[in-house]
Amino acid sequence: MPSRKFADGEVVRGRWPGSSLYYEVEILSHDSTSQLYTVKYKDGTELELKENDIKPLTSFRQRKGGSTSSSPSRRRGSRSRSRSRSPGRPPKSARRSASASHQANIKEARREVEVKLTPLVLVLVFILIQPFVFPFMYVFTRITCTSNVHELFAGVFLIMFGLPVFLFLLLLMCKQKDPSLLNFPPPLPALYELWETRVFGVYLLWFLIQVLFYLLPIGKVVEGTPLIDGRRLKYRLNGFYAFILTSAVIGTSLFQGVEFHYVYSHFLQFALGATVFCVVLSVYLYMRSLKAPRNDLSPASSGNAVYDFFIGRELNPRIGTFDLKYFCELRPGLIGWVVINLVMLLAEMKIQDRAIPSLAMILVNSFQLLYVVDALWNEEALLTTMDIIHDGFGFMLAFGDLVWVPFIYSFQAFYLVSHPNEVSWPMASLIIVLKLCGYVIFRGANSQKNAFRKNPSDPKLAHLKTIHTSTGKHLLVSGWWGFVRHPNYLGDLIMALAWSLPCGFNHILPYFYVIYFTMLLVHREARDEYHCKKKYGVAWEKYCQRVPYRIFPYIY
Ligand code: NDP
Repeated sequence: MPSRKFADGEVVRGRWPGSSLYYEVEILSHDSTSQLYTVKYKDGTELELKENDIKPLTSFRQRKGGSTSSSPSRRRGSRSRSRSRSPGRPPKSARRSASASHQANIKEARREVEVKLTPLVLVLVFILIQPFVFPFMYVFTRITCTSNVHELFAGVFLIMFGLPVFLFLLLLMCKQKDPSLLNFPPPLPALYELWETRVFGVYLLWFLIQVLFYLLPIGKVVEGTPLIDGRRLKYRLNGFYAFILTSAVIGTSLFQGVEFHYVYSHFLQFALGATVFCVVLSVYLYMRSLKAPRNDLSPASSGNAVYDFFIGRELNPRIGTFDLKYFCELRPGLIGWVVINLVMLLAEMKIQDRAIPSLAMILVNSFQLLYVVDALWNEEALLTTMDIIHDGFGFMLAFGDLVWVPFIYSFQAFYLVSHPNEVSWPMASLIIVLKLCGYVIFRGANSQKNAFRKNPSDPKLAHLKTIHTSTGKHLLVSGWWGFVRHPNYLGDLIMALAWSLPCGFNHILPYFYVIYFTMLLVHREARDEYHCKKKYGVAWEKYCQRVPYRIFPYIY
């Protein structure tokens, strides 16, 4: 007779069918034929469970407030209530306690419909994203490529006010226990609750520390791409050193007992502080650009004040050798993002009373850390991106770099603090493979193009086919860039998906980044195609014939 692991009357934890949640149960009996245990939950629900779905109490740490020992139905309204199978809802085979009210059943049913739909919705979003985002992209492209004053004015205002509001709505939604669309809009805090001068002071301190690291005379100095007048600006590459120094400061502060939970508990206040700072910076940038010589203006600037405030007027605003745009692109926001992720990891351990972070949190943190470290390690590659070569420094980039990146890109980690998701090892392995595939494409494509732009006659690139353009530059038509146009965007997008998957399928919220990023890259690709067509003319058309595949073929 096969032996049984748990005895009658033993108190253990039983997995709720269809979910990854475990609740305290008492073993009532064991059927040696079916090898099933009959267990009783605290609310009286009796179920039959396999041995694999039962774990001894010692494999769990007790949570503060004893919430882990709650019965499934008592946990309604707690953060677990939106799991893929609600723990409070019995499967058909369950003998349910008669106390469940009709009202609660209706609520459960509503949640069930949403939850069951979520994976389907995700799949649909991925398939249909391109036609869906068309209207938005149309408006955005009109704004960035139009010269119609009314369109510019309306669109730019919409984005400048809409984006911060949207950011706060997302953060507030994520703070809800059940951030489903059924609970939209989230409760709004009073404005005065969002502002804290001390928080703003901490933010300024962070910014100044990064300025200090940027100014350190370490790291090599390189030249950027030629400007319109043939000049080449010098840039010091010390982003990676700044990251190491920041890590040392953060590590020392942790060791000294600095309470990093303050950042989590004042997250919205930090987001507001960063937004205010960004607005002040944008005003300064616009004012100083009015005195800038014509040659220093961005090719994207239009002469329309509102549009130029938004898109940026001056291409490379500098105070002495301090390059404001270059600094903001990689330092306070990007390094800030991984620091915020670390804060979320610590907050998860504290709030969920975990001895170690969840696997989901570890995946999200490591993936995004790799992304940031990669960007800083390959800092020189920034010099050939559209942000540096083409776009001026105004509200769009300032808000993107200083607010959007740290507060939206850390969204998955923020989500996991209050919406735990257990990821199995097989699932984690698949996600890691996906992330690595994305990374190989992303890094391969970016490095190939950067090496080629830096030195077109590099012997290592001699095997690549190119076509000549009337500007004197060549375009790659083989290697990564012969496989599809903008292969780097494809890799980036795959990685973005891998960042969201550890958050599970209970809500669409952690997938916001992938959806938003798809929209951003759709727009970027369209914008770049437009500029390259203008810049390279016939040669670009030839390139398009040689490489007809685009990653977003249905749009534009
Ligand atoms: P790219 O690095 O793709 O730069 C586009 C430029 O590359 C074109 O203007 C053209 O410039 C050159 N180019 C295009 N096709 C070819 C070719 N066949 N051969 C040689 N050169 C070519 O764009 P981005 O600056 O938008 O992106 C850089 C990276 O940053 C990407 O990986 C992107 O995913 C990532 N990114 C990430 C963001 C995030 O928020 N996480 C936001 C934006 C970008 P030229 O010919 O003048 O050299």
